[in-house]
Amino acid sequence: RPASADAVLAVLDPEQRQAATCLDGPVCILAGAGTGKTRTITHRIAYAVLSGRWRPQNVLAVTFTTRAAGEMRARLRELGVAGVQARTFHSAALRQARYFWPQVYRTELPPVVESKLRFVAEAAARCRVTVDLPGRRDLASEIEWAKVSNVRPDDYPAIAEKVGRRLAGFDPVTVARVFAAYEEVRREQGYVDLEDVLLCAAALLADSPKVAAEVRAQYRHFVVDEYQDVSPVQQTLLDLWLGERSDICVVGDANQTIYSFAGATPSYLLNFAVRHPDATVIRLERDYRSTPQVVRVANQLLAEAQGPASRYRLTLRAQRPDGPEPTFTEYPDEVAEAEGIARSVGELIRRGVPPREIAVLFRTNAQSEVLEQAFAERDIPYLVRGAERFFDRPEVREALVLLRGALRAGERSDAGLGADVRAVLAAAGWTPQAPQGSGAVRERWESLAALVALADDVARDDPTADLEAFLSVLDERAATQHAPTGDGVTLATLHAAKGLEWDAVFLAGVHEGVIPISYAETAEQVEEERRLLYVGVTRARVHLAISWALARVPGSRAHRQPSRFLDSLRPRGDAGRRAPSADGVRRKATKTVARCRRCDRPLHTATERKLGRCVDCPASYDERIFAALKSWRSDQAREQRVPDYCVFTDAT
Ligand code: ATP
Ligand code: MG
Repeated sequence: RPASADAVLAVLDPEQRQAATCLDGPVCILAGAGTGKTRTITHRIAYAVLSGRWRPQNVLAVTFTTRAAGEMRARLRELGVAGVQARTFHSAALRQARYFWPQVYRTELPPVVESKLRFVAEAAARCRVTVDLPGRRDLASEIEWAKVSNVRPDDYPAIAEKVGRRLAGFDPVTVARVFAAYEEVRREQGYVDLEDVLLCAAALLADSPKVAAEVRAQYRHFVVDEYQDVSPVQQTLLDLWLGERSDICVVGDANQTIYSFAGATPSYLLNFAVRHPDATVIRLERDYRSTPQVVRVANQLLAEAQGPASRYRLTLRAQRPDGPEPTFTEYPDEVAEAEGIARSVGELIRRGVPPREIAVLFRTNAQSEVLEQAFAERDIPYLVRGAERFFDRPEVREALVLLRGALRAGERSDAGLGADVRAVLAAAGWTPQAPQGSGAVRERWESLAALVALADDVARDDPTADLEAFLSVLDERAATQHAPTGDGVTLATLHAAKGLEWDAVFLAGVHEGVIPISYAETAEQVEEERRLLYVGVTRARVHLAISWALARVPGSRAHRQPSRFLDSLRPRGDAGRRAPSADGVRRKATKTVARCRRCDRPLHTATERKLGRCVDCPASYDERIFAALKSWRSDQAREQRVPDYCVFTDAT
């Protein structure tokens, strides 16, 4: 049963409600993490639809990941609102480009190429530039940056120089030559890339008044989440969608700009009120996500932030009840760190915290490997997000080829999308029952089963979805590197964690060289690293555990330093709890001494021996953490402890 328009507003605080009821004209919400920006825009749409002011099909809600779009649709559905287009820029653009291209240019939109690497290799060869795989990757990202920033090959050297982009191993003129050749190769082979899709959609709107009129008649109300990450090309598209109108609501947090290396810029957010002098600008300060202990760490990071975002000094005010202090743990090496984290995670799960409420976040994709190993050894279910190898797996590639073939063959069945996909994937080895045992066969099945589950999900979302719609969801997922979800501990890069939240968050590898990353040279680049850490910290609702490793592999020289960003965050005089090296544990374990039942470290004092564990045991959990997580998980307690906005409106 749909919620009433009033009920949708009742769960917002006064500022959120002001934003949700301001339905005309430009609206901008500038606010920190966890203040309810996403909730506010979702409820704004629901309120407008349920009160009869907007028709759902006239709303375009733009998000930056497919997952965020899916979550917004699910949330709207819970509120009884169906039919709103919640999409990524890419998916909205692809739909429009595919639909209108033939009308205007009398030919199909060329196929979209998923990976640039093949064309980059060919382009480099034409330019007689020798380049290995990492080099090709770097060139591909640089071309991506140039394209989303509206930079042409000819202009690249001058602009790259001006904005200080330096690509290791290539001078700007070489990059420009490869870029030009890449465009040549791509065109010759008859493809468009992901950036071209946005450019094509923009070109259609700019070239054809008929298309522009049709699209503008369809979409009348625009909402953009995570607006601090909009790129110049996306902004162009947004402007073309809007035309002369200004019925747009944007929300963002300039302190969460973490994609500027890829062309995102917070200047559109920060200058929104300049471009739209009649805009209603709303600030939100109450943090509904995290405990005061986590918020204190976030505020400390905000206070030290430099750069454009610091123009709007925000301080978050925690609304949640007290929780445990964040922990800071030093490990001798990455293996010990991964094992320490896995042990802690295992303990949380044993004590009743659902795996999906736990995340381990890190800076670079490569860091997941050692964690995956530690999790696998302990049979802890996990899923890797962001660093996704999913769409690179051979069985997934094969499945995509089969699905495309079925689409071309015009395969249809009245059993719906789920049945279509099951039938096609049966040819690739999918069976209704999982095969016995572990290993490669099982893994292959898991991948295919994830695709089947995703098809069901898409069909549930949109009962009219067909194979083509499903393939475009897959293309988009492959592009944004998000995997189908399941129930497991989330392992993700900080970049992939944006907008999400978990009860317990572990930030791994917070040492110099990783955060800030070694190649962050300029002050601006270092600031982006600080923002990444801020994004990580603000994902935690209750429990935040930060750790670092002094060396990479066990036994190697401990040459690393904890991240400079931690200097002011750690409690004074606390170098972090020290954990033993895996090596040390094994050596000492051969002697017959009393050992800690949790971390295996020898016990030195009578008190420790009595407790059966070391007093500063890195593997042990403060009972307060369990207590906090437990009461958090109990739904009833959760309801009672979530402060109702009325409570503090009385006070303020
Ligand atoms: P981010 O910047 O990380 O994207 P956000 O500002 O979009 O964060 P939301 O994800 O919308 O924040 O909200 C954070 C959490 O706080 C969510 O769990 C949300 O349900 C909750 N929340 C938001 N507003 C309120 C409110 N008025 N009362 C209770 N809970 C709220
Ligand atoms: Mg959000």
